Amino acid sequence: MPHAHDNSIIIAGEALPVIDMPIHARWRDAADRRGFDITARVADRYALALTCRQCGELSRTRLFVLMNHQPRCSHCIETAWRQEAENAGIAFLRRDPDSRVYAWYRLLCGHEARRQIGLITRVAAGETGLRCATCHEAVEAAEAQAVGWELVGPDPEGDTNYREYRHVSCGHRQRIARGNVKTQRFDCGGCGVTWVSAPSFIYLFRVLLPNGMRVLKLGFSKNPGSRLQHQLLGDRDLACHVLRVVAMPSGHDAIRAEKRLHANLRRRFPEAVIDATDFAGALTVVTEVYAEWLEAEIQQLLDGIEGDSDDEGA
Ligand SMILES: [Zn+2]
Ligand SMILES: [Zn+2]
Ligand SMILES: [Zn+2]
Repeated sequence: MPHAHDNSIIIAGEALPVIDMPIHARWRDAADRRGFDITARVADRYALALTCRQCGELSRTRLFVLMNHQPRCSHCIETAWRQEAENAGIAFLRRDPDSRVYAWYRLLCGHEARRQIGLITRVAAGETGLRCATCHEAVEAAEAQAVGWELVGPDPEGDTNYREYRHVSCGHRQRIARGNVKTQRFDCGGCGVTWVSAPSFIYLFRVLLPNGMRVLKLGFSKNPGSRLQHQLLGDRDLACHVLRVVAMPSGHDAIRAEKRLHANLRRRFPEAVIDATDFAGALTVVTEVYAEWLEAEIQQLLDGIEGDSDDEGA
């Protein structure tokens, strides 16, 4: 070890001055019983730099803690968190500097999220699921978009079942239960439009399967949001992104256009049709799932359909 004066030890990125004072035998005994070696006295007369015998890394501990409690090695704790995150199917990124009980993780969908460390323990144990708020908001925004409204934000009155929406065609804002947006059972208080005769939609979703495979789901629905939630995914909490929703003048048009799309894609890109065994149990559908690389092609076909229905409406 270098000379004790003008000497410091770096712990967790912080240079702590070594205090040139004796290390008593009973301290060494206590450290020994608890699985540490005392490397130095640091920072002030009450702090120690301990080397963990488990991982060999340094951590800073109060003398009082060493003598009266079991000190915890911050490296070993973080290693356990990393392992736990891996077991939960996500990646530990870093601690939250503002909170001891939160950390930042990369979720399966690729988004970063701040979560309680204890929650990840329960996810790893299979006791609960993990939902990405970013992905979820995209789903809600698409639900609104599909029925001609725009998701503005949370309910101004604070009800978690409600959101604030804006009617795109008239600009009117109102709070609506999210469930009613999905089933289109609401009227606009601004222009009075009702949703008895709702149009239909062709939708394109990207779904991340539990096996890590990304696939595209193309389909027709009276209500893409509700189809995504209930028919496509069942109750599973899969990471989904709504890539495209194309409004069709009627259900008949939507079904016809969808059938043409599938026939076209199957004929030209048979190798992009995903085998059902790859998503068995994850998606409730058995056909109409394509490889992710086909997205540009499908988007182009949807451009064509959108162009056609615009022409008819004009
Ligand atoms: Zn350790
Ligand atoms: Zn996400
Ligand atoms: Zn309106």
